[in-house]
Amino acid sequence: MNSPFFIVGYLAVFIGWFVSGIYLRRRSPKLHRRWFHRITLIGMAALSPFFLAPPLLAGQWQMALIFATFIVFIAASSLRYRVCESCGAVCRPEHFFLAAKHCSKCGAKLLPPVLFESGATEA
Ligand SMILES: [Zn+2]
Repeated sequence: MNSPFFIVGYLAVFIGWFVSGIYLRRRSPKLHRRWFHRITLIGMAALSPFFLAPPLLAGQWQMALIFATFIVFIAASSLRYRVCESCGAVCRPEHFFLAAKHCSKCGAKLLPPVLFESGATEA
């Protein structure tokens, strides 16, 4: 799996993920909060074939299963991160399984992630 397509595809997905995160962060804190978790999960879903394809193509399904478990674990962990609607800061969890309740930068109350709401009815 050292073909140029594989490397270019991996870099394109990673750069797209990175640039969209910077764009949202600069645009507005509310938009950043609304899209942070979606972009994170979409980015992980887009990158996961690059980690799962090599072991699957080599016939090592046990290794692919370990990678898939790891990817699901990281995705579930990312949902405990919170984005402050006041300042746009990304706040890490207080403890491993406990999301932060207040922004570490400005002290504002943090809201749970928005995944499936359209946000059209929000102010
Ligand atoms: Zn804040």
